[in-house]
Amino acid sequence: MPIKNRFADLQNEMVSWRHDFHEYPELQFDLPRTTKKITELLKGFGVDSIKSEVGKSGIVAEIHGQKIDSGKAIGFRADMDALPVSEMNNFSHKSKIENKMHACGHDGHTTILLGAAKYLCETRNFNGKVVLVFQPAEEGGGGAKAMVDDNLISNWDISEIYGLHNLPNLPVGEFAIKPGPLMAASDFFEIVVAGKGGHAALPHFSNDTTLASSAIVLALQQIVSRRVSALQSVVLSVTGLSTDTMAHNVTPDTVRITGTTRFLNENERQKMPERIKKTAESTAEAYGCSAHIQYGFGVGVTDNYVKNTQFAIAAAEEVVGTSNIKTDIEPIMAGEDFSEMLTKCPGAFIFLGNGQSASWHNPSYDFNNEALPFGCSWFANLAEQRLPLN
Ligand SMILES: [Zn+2]
Ligand SMILES: [Zn+2]
Repeated sequence: MPIKNRFADLQNEMVSWRHDFHEYPELQFDLPRTTKKITELLKGFGVDSIKSEVGKSGIVAEIHGQKIDSGKAIGFRADMDALPVSEMNNFSHKSKIENKMHACGHDGHTTILLGAAKYLCETRNFNGKVVLVFQPAEEGGGGAKAMVDDNLISNWDISEIYGLHNLPNLPVGEFAIKPGPLMAASDFFEIVVAGKGGHAALPHFSNDTTLASSAIVLALQQIVSRRVSALQSVVLSVTGLSTDTMAHNVTPDTVRITGTTRFLNENERQKMPERIKKTAESTAEAYGCSAHIQYGFGVGVTDNYVKNTQFAIAAAEEVVGTSNIKTDIEPIMAGEDFSEMLTKCPGAFIFLGNGQSASWHNPSYDFNNEALPFGCSWFANLAEQRLPLN
């Protein structure tokens, strides 16, 4: 297959880009080295336009096809940021920066889009424009929203947009996708439980905030099991519990409870802040304490458009054949801020097999170089299929 052969030729070059990104990971919007390298490579390929600082530190570049009279532009997105994780791998391309690591494979995603860009600049077998979107701050920083708020979709007139993410333990050479919700909406909350601290030997003179907090944690776990239909997918996890003292003999004045909630359904999501508030406040009151709740909305549901999912499958079929595309995959309750782009533009998100590997965000994770040409071929096929020359 010509596309795959071309990417096989590019493989060594792509691996060297990927390892370089991996060795010098950068976080959130602070990506000076990463964006400089991407910009230099794109200029070298001969892209038709390039704009930096879209959504603070995003890059948007255009490649024009042999013809552009279709008037159509499609967007391809890759994320660029790493995580505050200390790498435990010992290979030669191990992170050189303490407590920063590409532990989610965004180094691979960026490399894939660069490889596809090089091929598309060389061949231009399409009618219209391909818009390359290199996004900052996917890991909880709101990078997709920043680019969307900076008029990414309207300024480049993007009519459909696609993105991919590696998936550990899906074999290399396979894809997985489904229409509708693929990844979850992801929110967060903090509850401060306040009471009257005092001597731990005389609990009847205080309001025990640790006991009230323990009861709140248990009560919170009954929201999903008792208030949400069994047919809905909702997760509530309490992830932190801290007091204002670590003394053995002091009842603390305040206890802080932190956690996250996940949803595939926007309706259930909208009900959650009030449910947490009522549960925490009334439980705290029963112990003579008070609870103050802060609820933050994070990314929305990554909700694949039905038609664009079909287009994504067709592009993958040309690379790996129908039997290597899983379309019965269950949604994953992790969040992905590509969802922000899908709120403004039709599109789809696909998983790319990373082979046997540690899970995302694990200090032993690494993106699998063997997956690179499959991702590149998918983007290239999308361009040629969605923007046909004839
Ligand atoms: Zn991640
Ligand atoms: Zn990721």
